[in-house]
Amino acid sequence: MKETFITLEQLQHFQETVPTPYHLYDEKGIRANAKQLYQAFAWNPGFKEYFAVKATPNPAIMQLLHEEGCGMDCSSLTELMLCERVGIRGEDIMFSSNDTPPEDFQLAARLGAIINLDDITHIDFLEQTVGYIPKKISCRFNPGGYFEIANAIMDNPGEAKYGMTRPQLLEAAHILQEKGAEEMGIHAFLASNTTNNDYYPVLARQLFELAVEVQQTTGMPVTFINLSGGVGIPYRPEQEKADIFAIGEGVRRAYEEVLVPAGMTDVKLCSELGRFMLGPYGCLVTKAIHEKHTHKEYIGVDACACDLMRPAMYGAYHHITVAGKENAPCDCMYDVTGSLCENNDKFAVDRLLPKINVGDFLIIHDTGAHGHAMGYNYNGKLRSAEILLQEDGSIRMIRRAETPEDYFATLDF
Ligand SMILES: *Cc1c(COP(=O)(O)O)cnc(C)c1O
Repeated sequence: MKETFITLEQLQHFQETVPTPYHLYDEKGIRANAKQLYQAFAWNPGFKEYFAVKATPNPAIMQLLHEEGCGMDCSSLTELMLCERVGIRGEDIMFSSNDTPPEDFQLAARLGAIINLDDITHIDFLEQTVGYIPKKISCRFNPGGYFEIANAIMDNPGEAKYGMTRPQLLEAAHILQEKGAEEMGIHAFLASNTTNNDYYPVLARQLFELAVEVQQTTGMPVTFINLSGGVGIPYRPEQEKADIFAIGEGVRRAYEEVLVPAGMTDVKLCSELGRFMLGPYGCLVTKAIHEKHTHKEYIGVDACACDLMRPAMYGAYHHITVAGKENAPCDCMYDVTGSLCENNDKFAVDRLLPKINVGDFLIIHDTGAHGHAMGYNYNGKLRSAEILLQEDGSIRMIRRAETPEDYFATLDF
């Protein structure tokens, strides 16, 4: 059974002020998890998490993570603007982008962000666009091939559009140094939503070895290593949670074995986690508004794929709890659907759930990252509100739901 952070009584109470559907975030869970991440990497004095803003681009969320010591990882102009509005700037921003438009580099440079270059050609592009090469800069690495842990394929970087090859990265270090950079970082994101505690340690070892090679062959000091995102969460009830302390310890061992013998004892580590930071601490609250009995049993809810795209897009599993029926037997098989004119608008297919009545609240789990953020307006659907469940149990609307006026605002009438 998967726990929820909210009860039926609370949902009934909230209903007086916020109509469903909405995304709800758990401040207590977010803060506690961020503290654990920092504890797990406390052995590395400069460690910093740059929260992947794209996962949950909301100022209130960004602010509370910033209070926990996190910087922000941005990938676009508007994400950078969000940071500026929240008052986060300088080296608290990592700018990890690809196919980067010039305006994005200009704002990143103006804010003093650490710029992570996706390609060797971006060195000249950045220099031409902003007029200089920053003293501290980062390069994104892509080793190609398959990313494997203990002979199991985790992902396929050879097909990924991101990053530079090893020879390119070595050449980039050389060119950057000639152009005035004084220190660099190395970044890579080689597997997504990993549930294996070895992902970060295996990745770290590869990046540490590359860092030693870069520093020894080019003389460019490598002062930080960015392990990026990819630590996963257990979407399914039978999956285990990543053990962040085991992960931190595995990375520490690789650090001791690779960097320390090379005399690189003060390399700072960073991460750009999105899903791990927010995923489990958000849920989509929706209500059953119809039941339909045809060739299958359907429950129609008031949310749709515009509120949560992952099931429609990747067939992703999101657990569903029927509020107040947590302990009821799951003896009814349903497709849980939204109202889009697309048959993939289903939050669950052939899911065993308790008997659902119209009016029941359904809690769709693990929507805190890449949930509301991936929302869209198909079928004229309006994007839902985001609500923060604060530590004292009260709620705060951190983004109101869209109104028809918002929908019409960009049109020429
Ligand atoms: C998406 C992304 C992340 C966050 O990934 P998660 O899977 O949410 O941890 C971090 N860095 C970059 C560059 C990304 O594109």
